[in-house]
Amino acid sequence: MQTFSGLIAAPGIGIGAVAVYRPDQVVPPQPTTKAGIDPQTEWRRFLDAQAEVDAELEQLCANPNSLVAEIFAAHRVMLHDQTLLDAVHANIYDHGENAAAATFDAIADLSKLFTSFDDEYFAGRASDIGDLGRRLLVRLGAQFSRLELASLPEGTVLIAEDLNPSELTRLSPERVAGIALAKSTPTAHSAILARSLGIPLACALGHEILYINAGGLAVIDGFRGQLHIGLDEGQMQGFERRRQQYLTSQAAAIDHARAPAVTRDGVTIPVRANANNPKEVAHSAVVGADGVGLLRSEYMFRSRAAPPTREEQMQTYAGFLAQVSSQLTVRALDAGGDKPVHYLTHQVEDNPFLGLRGIRLLIEEPDILLTQYRALQMAAAAASSHVEARFMLPMISTVEEVVTVQRLLSQLPTDLPPLRLGIMIEVPSAALIAQTLAPLVDFFSIGTNDLSQYVLASDRTNSTVARMADPLHPAVLRLIQMTCDAARTYNKPVSLCGEIAGDPIAVPLLLGLGVTELSAPLPAVPLIKETIRTLDLDDCRRLARQALACPSGERVRDLLAQP
Ligand code: PEP
Ligand code: MG
Repeated sequence: MQTFSGLIAAPGIGIGAVAVYRPDQVVPPQPTTKAGIDPQTEWRRFLDAQAEVDAELEQLCANPNSLVAEIFAAHRVMLHDQTLLDAVHANIYDHGENAAAATFDAIADLSKLFTSFDDEYFAGRASDIGDLGRRLLVRLGAQFSRLELASLPEGTVLIAEDLNPSELTRLSPERVAGIALAKSTPTAHSAILARSLGIPLACALGHEILYINAGGLAVIDGFRGQLHIGLDEGQMQGFERRRQQYLTSQAAAIDHARAPAVTRDGVTIPVRANANNPKEVAHSAVVGADGVGLLRSEYMFRSRAAPPTREEQMQTYAGFLAQVSSQLTVRALDAGGDKPVHYLTHQVEDNPFLGLRGIRLLIEEPDILLTQYRALQMAAAAASSHVEARFMLPMISTVEEVVTVQRLLSQLPTDLPPLRLGIMIEVPSAALIAQTLAPLVDFFSIGTNDLSQYVLASDRTNSTVARMADPLHPAVLRLIQMTCDAARTYNKPVSLCGEIAGDPIAVPLLLGLGVTELSAPLPAVPLIKETIRTLDLDDCRRLARQALACPSGERVRDLLAQP
């Protein structure tokens, strides 16, 4: 058995046949027999293609952005590199290939060589050479194909370098048994979507996985962040048993999911769902969630030319209020970072996660904020159900931002009852001044996905440093504790809606730190409720004290793993 180890991104065991996805995948040109081609003609065709690509790259080097110009200058150097030329020449003259096949094979060999060094710099060069190869192959008449994500056969283990959210939403959980990504991180939005679809996913597995042969059997171990190939029958049966055990425990949890999650000492912990789109809102009641604790409203704003109108949003929210049980928390548009909305975030920023994101953008574009608030307020006022609507502000980092939003909201007509207004605690400064923020708002919701990347200075979309952005690191835990202490002082509820809320191992610790509500990825809700029913809050507090004293996230995990 060969094992590739990366990071845990979505739980579960996936078993199936490998399909490798490369956007704009090149169909290898038909091999030709030596007798059928004239090597001189093929070499001339290659040189003509090389000259055309060179002219194209020369133009690209004139780009005013010096970074872009530098990249294409490096591509020009590669285009004339003797190793590449020798390889293509040998493929044509010695192996009798036509120009397209000779180039395809030479590029594939070079890419493999670069990725074999297991070094980020060389991995980058592999992607450059692939890009250059595509330019040459287009000119040599090679065909491109796309693996159709929407119609993958049942029982597919999908391997890809990365998948963006729109590619992920084309996948059907009934057909895709698991996903293995060469890059990406557990808190990237692709992983968040995989979790919400219930597809096991391991990420940051390295570029070697892209060369695994399609069709062979593979296993994704979403609990360990691993991909296995070449398993013998006994190993396969072992994974099949674990898969069945997990499915059985999930099914048992679903049976009781609608009942409230009450700890052994009698405290009810609302467990809500994170929803990324209307389908997930509708599904929240099915998995027994006590409402939606985080509606990522970004989906409404993407893939269109202008923001949705107030009427459009009002109808959407009214529909959601009729579907969810007990509570709907709509997060105001959190554009920017890894969630661009092209008509708002058109400026390219060097560090988008530290840029004009979330509430900062909304303060610049107050109409978006006010329209969204008003639409929810009107939908709530018109709703016949007793579901409560709450409004939540993303990426708060200062008191001034809250005060500014309150001033903006005070300009709205006063004919309808105000919504309960909360803030995400996902920037370290907000946790550190939680005692000042708590009296100003109605609730907190801790966003550990962002909080961990900001506390540990590791970009949540960068697989090289993803291991560092650990939400269970004691530094993050201390900020969670500070936030909960402030909420308790002012008697305000404090939810936690980062992905860690869906990890049963973490739940006792989060409750011990003082979190009073959870909002988890949809499929995790039943198991989280089941876990809460086994807990005693005094034990949880003891565990939290021990975790806070640990020197690292790893030690915290060891502590949580103890029976
Ligand atoms: C978070 O940051 O933890 C969070 C829930 O928000 P998002 O993942 O959408 O940034
Ligand atoms: Mg966030």
